[in-house]
Parts: sequence; C-alpha cells; structure tokens
Amino acid sequence: MFGLMQQEELLISGLIDFAEKNHGETEIISRRVEGDVHRSNWAQVAKRSRQIANALHAMDLEVGARIATIAWNGYRHLELYFGVSGTARVLHTINPRLHPDQLAWIVNHAEDQVLCFDLSFLPLVKAIHTHTPTVKHWIALCDEDQLPKDTGIEGLQCYESWIGQHTDHYEWPMFDENTASSLCYTSGTTGHPKGVLYSHRSTLLHAFGSALPDVMNMSARDSVLPVVPMFHVNAWGLPYSAAMVGAKLVFPGPALDGKSVYELIEQEKVTFAAGVPTVWQMLLSHMLPLKAQFSSLKRTVIGGSACPPAMIEAFKSEYNVEVLHAWGMTELSPLGTLCSLKNKHNLLSPEEQMKIRLKQGRSFFGVLLKILDDQGQPQRHDGKSYGDLYAKGSWVIKKYFKEKDSALIDGWFPTGDVATIDEDGYMQVVDRTKDVIKSGGEWISSIDIENIAVSHPHVAMAACIGIPDPKWDERPIVVVVKKPNTALSKEELLAFYEGKTAKWQIPDDVIFVDAIPIGATGKILKTKLREELIQPQH
Ligand code: ADP
Repeated sequence: MFGLMQQEELLISGLIDFAEKNHGETEIISRRVEGDVHRSNWAQVAKRSRQIANALHAMDLEVGARIATIAWNGYRHLELYFGVSGTARVLHTINPRLHPDQLAWIVNHAEDQVLCFDLSFLPLVKAIHTHTPTVKHWIALCDEDQLPKDTGIEGLQCYESWIGQHTDHYEWPMFDENTASSLCYTSGTTGHPKGVLYSHRSTLLHAFGSALPDVMNMSARDSVLPVVPMFHVNAWGLPYSAAMVGAKLVFPGPALDGKSVYELIEQEKVTFAAGVPTVWQMLLSHMLPLKAQFSSLKRTVIGGSACPPAMIEAFKSEYNVEVLHAWGMTELSPLGTLCSLKNKHNLLSPEEQMKIRLKQGRSFFGVLLKILDDQGQPQRHDGKSYGDLYAKGSWVIKKYFKEKDSALIDGWFPTGDVATIDEDGYMQVVDRTKDVIKSGGEWISSIDIENIAVSHPHVAMAACIGIPDPKWDERPIVVVVKKPNTALSKEELLAFYEGKTAKWQIPDDVIFVDAIPIGATGKILKTKLREELIQPQH
C-alpha cells in the first residue's frame, strides 16, 4: 500500500523560487574581479537566473547540454548555478588552477557547448579555445564596456548583454528529480580527471542534510562566507543550502589573501565561513601581528585536508570561533562527516573535548560508513582499529561520467582513505591510502607527523612524505616552511618530536623549503614533493 501524500520532485529551481519568495531581500554580496564590492539579493538572483534560462532556450541547447564555468565565487556564478540547472541543463564547474592541457581535456570530455568565464581567466580561455571544438558560445562574465576587443575568440559575448536581451518571465520546467544537474571533475592526481555527475535529488538531499544543526547549522540568521570555491564540488553545496534556509551569502571573488578575507568578514558581519586549512592559515597569519579580532564570526567549517590541532586551538582560544572539522570528497557531494559534539560530551573538560574535535567527525543521516581490512573484513568501531573507508548514501557516487563500470564495490564507494571509527561513530582519517608511510610492516600516518610539526611555534606549514629505504621499505621525512623571521634547526625540530610520538615514527630528516607546492584544490601536492625530493632509484 502506498502512502497518500503529494510527491513534489526535488528540483534546484524549487530552491531559488523559495529563496525569492521568502528571503528576497536577503543580501548576496560579492567582491568582484574588478575589485569593488557588488550588492545583490535572492530576488535579483532569481530574476536573473530566469533570464539565463531564456537565454539558453534562445541558443537552442538540448536538455542535458553542458554549460561550463571558469569563475570565482560571485553573484553571476550563483545565477548560473540556478539558471542552468533549473532548465534541466548541466552546470559544469571547472577548476581554473588546473593545467591548460588538463582543462581542455575536461572540456572535451564533458562536451561543453557554452563556456562562461571571469575576465581574469581570459588568458586561460585564449590558450584552450582552439582546442575545444564542442564549445559554440563563449561568454565573459562582465559588462559590455569591459569586453575586450580583438581577443581572437570567435563570437565572444558579454554576460550582461547576453542575459539582458531576455525577459525574466519564465516558468521553471518540472522533470524527474534524478535528472543530472551539475558536473565536477576530481583533480586526478593520477591519470585523467574523472567526472562526478550530480542530480537534482542528490543535490537537494545533500543540502537538507548539510544544513542540519549538528552539521553546518545553517539558518536565515547567518551571513555565510564560502571561501571554498564554487569551481570545486559546488562550494560544498553552500549556494544550495543557503537558498534553502535563506542565509545571506558573501563571496570573496579572487581575493583570498588574509587581509582581504578578514576585511570582508568584518564588513559583512560574517557569522559562518567555510574553507580548506591553507586559506585559514593565511587569515590567521594576517591577524596575529595586528592583534585583530572578529566581531561577528562564530564558527568555521574546515575540511578538504586534515585541520591541524594548532589551528582549531588558535581559533578557539584566541578568537572564540568554533572550528567544525569536516571530511568529504567530490564523490560525496562532498560532505561525509562533520565533527560536532554530543550531549554527553558537554561535561568533558576542554582538553577532552579537543581530542574529539580533532577527529573528522560523525556521519549524519544520509551517509553510511564502514571500514574494512585488506581481506575485506569489517573492522571494529573502537577508535583504534583502522581500515579502508567506504561510503554509501543518496548523495554518494554510483558511477563516473561516461565510465562503463560501476565505481562501487559490493554497493559501497571506496574512498581511498584509511580511517578509524570510534564507539560513538566519530571517524578519524589516518591517511590517504597513497600517502600513508609503510615502515617495517607498520603504518605511519603522515597527518600525525605533520600535525606535530605545525604545533611547533616556528613552523608555518609541514608536509610528510615517505622516502624509499632499503631496510624499512619506507621512512618518513618532513618538509617544513618556517614562520617568517624565526630560526629553527633540523635537530631542534626532531627533538620536538620526542615524547609526542613513538620513536620509530619520528622522521628521519627535516627539509626546510621556502614554499610547499599547493594543488588545484588548495591541498598540499605530495606527488610534486615526491617528484622533487626523491631521487629516482636505479
Ligand atoms: P580530489 O579527489 O579532487 O583530491 P576532493 O576534494 O574530493 O578532491 O578530496 C577528497 C579527499 O580529501 C578525501 O578523500 C580525503 O583524503 C581528503 N580530505 C578531505 N577532508 C579531509 C579532512 N578533514 N581530513 C583529512 N583529509 C581530508
């Protein structure tokens, strides 16, 4: 017997309709490529996304056509999020930090037909436009008077004129909620990138889940700063969850340096921010010497790579900002776990609470996790036994775009992470499977070694990699960037490890460098470090 309730398809157009009707005046603020701060609101975003829908219709693009963006976080990008997906076409967000060859490969693989880009990416677009035959329309996200002449890009149009020719009268179509809505390629540290094709249903369920109080705790009282880019995993779904709850959005554009981010937080009274650890490192480095404080920021979600304990501690003790450690990946839309405490933890001392906060957190309703050993045997949830982490759920990938085979093993997605899960369901990433250091049959977590290094007052950034060793197979070394104007020797840092980890886990060597290579999604590029530092074995 079926229930007798209505079935509304879960569509992205429903989000923007809702935001317009219920939170129309709530602001959408963007620092633009031009440098100024632009003010819009949900009503404006809704109106202009309907103009996009009409503009796409006039281009005669079929349902399911891919419309690509190479753009920073800003209001025009947000309008495309709703305008493209709302018409049952697919928004393909591209990471501009990729190599142009890889970028062209992705455009060709996705068979993008329209490519919208911020003017700061004009050189990139010039480099690829003759290698991407499927793209029929090039659109610069700017005003007509900013459109550069003689770019050599045939038919280049400006966004404002493109949508300006069309009315905002448009009825969003109704269709199956399993229809594809957006496409994002994983950075592909090995081999070609792979496309993750989200659906309207997966996107809305992820937005419901991620807005929950124990997850991102999003509400209409929030002013949200997504530092995490809209060109990678839909800015952790924040554009959708913000529309769902009617939150104010504050977009940083290309200015991600500590000073710009700090000023924006203060000017727009940001209450909640989200980003990868490297961005927060820049922010804290800017604030520390100025003894600056936050007047509105209450909490920040940090994820994408392990958040060093020293950073959680600094946010809490120096700035009274709660850090919510989160774990996820492109294939999970991206949120898998977030670390918020339970009722029984209220009585714990701050030190005991901190031990929990360092973990990547609990899964929330909608995501299932399990850990298996090499033989595929389930591991105990005791916080110590570790194994390969698998995920399952309504916003977890089933198959990569255009791949024949399923991405799953027995119905579960292998994440490529090694993790523990404790009795209360808190998951802790031990390491990326490919980054874990295998020394004498035992495993050393590169994350643990890095965390100890960055807790040293003179260390700004650290990366631990394994180097081949004839006796032990692999041994850890740590690559370190010192804080400016500080002195630190190899011996001092190695002595700092004494008593903080088992003797055999202490790195064999310390290499001081001026900078550590950062990849397209703001994470330390260990593959590059290995290439640079490890001599080929003969
Ligand atoms: P890509 O696959 O393109 O590198 P993702 O952003 O999808 O990019 O990266 C997912 C991976 O990032 C996870 O599998 C995990 O290894 C790592 N990761 C994400 N969040 C955390 C975290 N809080 N702590 C440790 N590692 C993390």
